[in-house]
Amino acid sequence: MPAPRPSLDSVTTIRDDGSRPFMFPADVAGRFTLARKVSSLLLILFYLSLPWIQVGGFPAVFLDVAERRFHLFGWTFVAQDMWLMFFLISGLGFTLFFITALFGRIWCGWACPQTVFLDHVYRRIERWIEGDAVKRRALEAAPMNGEKIFKRGLKHTLYIVVSLTITHLFLAYFVSIKELWAMMHQQPLEHWSSFAFVFIFAGALYFNFAWFREQLCIVICPYGRLQSAMIDDDSMAIGYDVNRGEPRGKLNAPDTGDCVACNRCVQVCPTGIDIRQGLQMECIGCTACIDACDDVMTRVHKPKGLIRYDSQNHFIGKVTHLLRPRTIVYAILLLIGMSVSTWAITSLKPANVGITRITGAPYFVDTDVVRNQFLVRLINKGSVPNDFIISVLAPVPVEQSGLVETLTVNSMGEEVRPLILRVPRDTYEGPFTFTLIVTDRENSFEITREVEFLGPDAYLLREDNEAQKP
Ligand code: SF4
Ligand code: SF4
Repeated sequence: MPAPRPSLDSVTTIRDDGSRPFMFPADVAGRFTLARKVSSLLLILFYLSLPWIQVGGFPAVFLDVAERRFHLFGWTFVAQDMWLMFFLISGLGFTLFFITALFGRIWCGWACPQTVFLDHVYRRIERWIEGDAVKRRALEAAPMNGEKIFKRGLKHTLYIVVSLTITHLFLAYFVSIKELWAMMHQQPLEHWSSFAFVFIFAGALYFNFAWFREQLCIVICPYGRLQSAMIDDDSMAIGYDVNRGEPRGKLNAPDTGDCVACNRCVQVCPTGIDIRQGLQMECIGCTACIDACDDVMTRVHKPKGLIRYDSQNHFIGKVTHLLRPRTIVYAILLLIGMSVSTWAITSLKPANVGITRITGAPYFVDTDVVRNQFLVRLINKGSVPNDFIISVLAPVPVEQSGLVETLTVNSMGEEVRPLILRVPRDTYEGPFTFTLIVTDRENSFEITREVEFLGPDAYLLREDNEAQKP
């Protein structure tokens, strides 16, 4: 059964009876297609290379879930730094809102992994093995024979290999390439959870890219729904110039616009829509219809740009406003998010220090001292062992024991040591605040923690001292 004709009342890729016509978008060439090829190649190389690139002794992006540590381009985040992620993620979210308000679904067409891998890896394999859209459609309709079994078998084998490769590299983001390589030489049961992850994730990729395809954008992706709330008539989006194109008709027919009704823009559309019917939720901004129509316009000696990036307002002859309430609000929010995350990330220290009071009594009054007991937790976030120098700055003389002055902590290591502080009774003047200072031999950073030294009121201790005198 053929696909339904594109209409604004239904989705082209779902028939009235609920079945789905498989899309065979025609090939297209042009300036946008070339630019998308180049940008997609760079994005794929970026994705493939990140686990291999070392920055500061760790992979450039290493989400070490097992150790609860994330390494991002030389910065290390431990569990205590996770609050930074709120600003980082919200900053990135508002960046996407801002870009969408200005340029519509540019993310979907140019950078979304779904589009990048589908258009520039899986569809390329399909075209290489099965030929152009006409041949692919003919193969689909043909009965199962030797040629069809061979082509389909080869295509799906390559799909599985590519899906497994993408999944293994994705796993490397969480376990590192070195660990991944070691796991690949062991029995699956020795790391069954990773094996199950690869199996399930590669299966999901294969299902998505081999069959589900544009349905993910149309039916599942929440961003596709959200975009209609983020864009307005001033947003740049791919559209059709109705004033110039209509009424459409055969070339040189009297009283017709520039659209020659060739339907090339529909044939190349991967989501099966007709952009001449207006901006639609199914449009993923892939630019294929721009290049297809530009090619037609060139052939019929008319100016390019009948389908182009433009605002809905400009299409009907109005002025496009870049500065408008939503772009201003999104810009302010993204600037706040980015500024806070930049400040927070640049002030990250190469170690984490925590100090807690040992459970039990908050303080002890001994024969000649008032004593407080703490636990100090030190995490070395650097890629080499480090000697940390620990000191206490207090308003009265304090004796320090337990935690020695220099503590060597291995890379990514954690040490927990008791810190006992004693104040002689004769110099004790009541509870006070002291500063725990942690630095390294080179004084390359300083981490301080303000902590309360607890004890009885000074006059009570003085009375006790007097009572103890012979
Ligand atoms: S490709 Fe251009 S000329 Fe052809 S139908 Fe589409 S809009 Fe009209
Ligand atoms: S309408 Fe044009 S830009 Fe939108 S999905 Fe179809 S071909 Fe791509």
